[in-house]
Amino acid sequence: MSRHRTDRRITAGLVVGTVAIALAVAATVAANRPAQSSDASTTPAETTRTQESAPAASSAPAPTEPDPEATPTDHLGGVSFDSEGVLHIDGHVVVNKSFALPETFGPGGLHPDLVGAFDAMAAEASAAGISLRIVSGYRSFAHQADNYTRRVASVGQDAADRGMARPGHSEHQTGLAIDVNDLSTSFGQTPAGQWVAANAHRFGFVIRYPEGKEAVTGFKYEPWHLRYFGVELATELATSGLTFEEHFGLPSSY
Ligand SMILES: [Zn+2]
Repeated sequence: MSRHRTDRRITAGLVVGTVAIALAVAATVAANRPAQSSDASTTPAETTRTQESAPAASSAPAPTEPDPEATPTDHLGGVSFDSEGVLHIDGHVVVNKSFALPETFGPGGLHPDLVGAFDAMAAEASAAGISLRIVSGYRSFAHQADNYTRRVASVGQDAADRGMARPGHSEHQTGLAIDVNDLSTSFGQTPAGQWVAANAHRFGFVIRYPEGKEAVTGFKYEPWHLRYFGVELATELATSGLTFEEHFGLPSSY
């Protein structure tokens, strides 16, 4: 029983920490970004999810629900938590080591915008003599849990956490991330890897975990892992050389 109470306290602490981070994120985003509305045409997450009405105030909140004081951040600087507690910034679902998806979050497949963008990218690459293929797409929470458990058993938790997200912390669960061609760091040095690095942003993709940014993103270099953000943000990141975390001032750690 004491174990149970301890778990509850840890969960509550995580929620409080997450809300504190959200407030800091909202303040950072509000301070750093001009007052403007984001371009809805490049925010695929908005098309897949609709904001549900807030729970009735009279219902007793569960102990793990975010503090009501967090609600003033809901529309500040394009930062919001949806009804499942998922953080969105400018319409982009945020998933890293600090921000997780619930087990119930599961679009069941890749987002159609991503699929269309990949097809266009692969066609242009093909014309340049480059073959691109998706080797891993959508993964459910349960699928990621299986993968992670096996990896920990194989290499230990510290090594596993550098290269594989814990369940709920994988972008593959969003349906907005893919692995292409070859899950090897040497892929980055191949003609295909170099073509992807130079061109993916024009189709809305970002190499999410670049070389030398592990301390920022929380994950070691993965030249094969592409997150679909839409052309606008992908081009901004490619131009600035910043990671998603650096661009929005986000933490990423367990
Ligand atoms: Zn991946």
